Amino acid sequence: MRPDGPPECPFCRIVAGQQAAEIVYRDELLTAFRDIWPQAPTHILIVPNAHIASLAYIDEKDCPLLGRVFAVINRLAAEEGIGQKGYRVVVNCGTMAGQTVPHLHFHLLGGRAMRG
Ligand code: 5GP
Ligand code: ZN
Repeated sequence: MRPDGPPECPFCRIVAGQQAAEIVYRDELLTAFRDIWPQAPTHILIVPNAHIASLAYIDEKDCPLLGRVFAVINRLAAEEGIGQKGYRVVVNCGTMAGQTVPHLHFHLLGGRAMRG
């Protein structure tokens, strides 16, 4: 089940061009933009253009989407100059995990040493 995106979903609004964001990549499946409250020198969010509420709604049909996500992450990491130094990819799934925006997103974090 894929719930429709609520009209107030900020990431749907960014994908649709209805809300400002520093977009660094987009294609027919994905949009990537800088986090508004960056936790590291590089903090980019990679989101599906379609509203998917969380990782909990992903299944085998989404393998092409997920493959694209990681290819784009590697490309962005290289562009940011962190491809070889190292970077972290984080997905929070559900409120207990700290997900605050209910539109699937992958955090690309790098440019500083990461603890733990
Ligand atoms: P979560 O906690 O759901 O895994 O991460 C949500 C992320 O989205 C947070 O890092 C937060 O700073 C970012 N964020 C929330 N609202 C906006 C927004 O309107 N624009 C941008 N660019 N980032 C946002
Ligand atoms: Zn959405």
